[in-house]
Amino acid sequence: MNEISDQKFLIDIINRLLKEIATNFYVAERELHITASIGVSVYPKDGKTPEELLRNADLAMYIAKRDGRNKFQFYEHNLNEESLLKLEKESALRRAIDNQEFVLYYQPQIDTNSRKMIGVEALLRWQHPSQGLISPIEFLEVAEDSGLIVEIGKWVFKTACQQACNWHQAGAKQLRVAINVSNRQINDNNFIQMLDEVLAETKVDPKLIQLEITEETVINNERVVNVINEISKRGIRVAFDDFGTGNSSLNYLRMVPIDQLKIDRSFIKNINHNKNDEVIIRAILSIANDLELDVIAEGVETNDQLQFLSKYNCHEIQGYYFSKPLAAEDVSVLILNDKAT
Ligand code: C2E
Ligand code: MG
Ligand code: MG
Repeated sequence: MNEISDQKFLIDIINRLLKEIATNFYVAERELHITASIGVSVYPKDGKTPEELLRNADLAMYIAKRDGRNKFQFYEHNLNEESLLKLEKESALRRAIDNQEFVLYYQPQIDTNSRKMIGVEALLRWQHPSQGLISPIEFLEVAEDSGLIVEIGKWVFKTACQQACNWHQAGAKQLRVAINVSNRQINDNNFIQMLDEVLAETKVDPKLIQLEITEETVINNERVVNVINEISKRGIRVAFDDFGTGNSSLNYLRMVPIDQLKIDRSFIKNINHNKNDEVIIRAILSIANDLELDVIAEGVETNDQLQFLSKYNCHEIQGYYFSKPLAAEDVSVLILNDKAT
């Protein structure tokens, strides 16, 4: 807006905007109610270039949203550091998507009897131009809160499916590729459609693909139970990730078509240190066995852990003891050397 005489004039206009937008709309005979959040920056005190003004208005809007919607917020120089950091991370992530800065690493999953690689887990990394390789722990929260994970997740799924096809052609006929899916992704209305598009485009054999979902995602969410049924109908396998750490309700093991349980690293690392955790591992193995589910232990770092797991019939292992997550080329080398199923 040009020629603002004073702040009161500005506030009057903002309030009129908020009020107009908050009146009910009718679309296809449905009543819709929406509200706006407005961030305001004023030249020249809040910025001297259009970019600076927009960035600061955006930041102010972010605060307005967080304080409950249908609000406005003027930019202030001392706006909370934390919000600023989060907003900066969000725009950095958007840039990373545009510039295709994400890569997948793949951690081998080993059959302890044959010692062959039976699968890999795709793990996301951000190849930052100046900061190097960044772990997903650093940016997943922002990616989920902002919804950007939906777009990133589609890229992950497509890239991993293409990679599975390549390795299949290279001779690893059974090598499975496991892909992590977060709560926000699975609750996205277009999730199944996204899967179908990528399956059709890459022509990957769905049997080679496994989606990893945490227990929390499933619990108390009837919709997710349906989504898992749809995934399973397509022949894609489903694993419960970080199993044992959530508010596990064993009931869910009956309700959803699960193929594999992944015993969380927090239990594995206490093998030989904490009797209770050992008991839990054995209980998980026994349940999995009775329900005819596959089990894999994650975060296996020592031979002692491996021995314990083998003794109680856990024959699939993932962890630094065998291999750290590898670049795709390094997995290809293992396949060439006949280390994969
Ligand atoms: P996760 O799915 O439970 O993955 C296992 C994590 O443990 C990975 O961390 C892996 O590098 C690490 N790890 C594997 N073996 C060992 C070990 O022996 N010792 C130790 N200390 N760590 C081990 P990473 O790659 O940092 O991933 C962290 C989490 O980020 C993952 O946990 C997963 O929940 C999430 N994530 C990773 N990639 C994606 C993705 O593409 N999409 C989504 N939505 N989430 C992802
Ligand atoms: Mg996982
Ligand atoms: Mg896990």
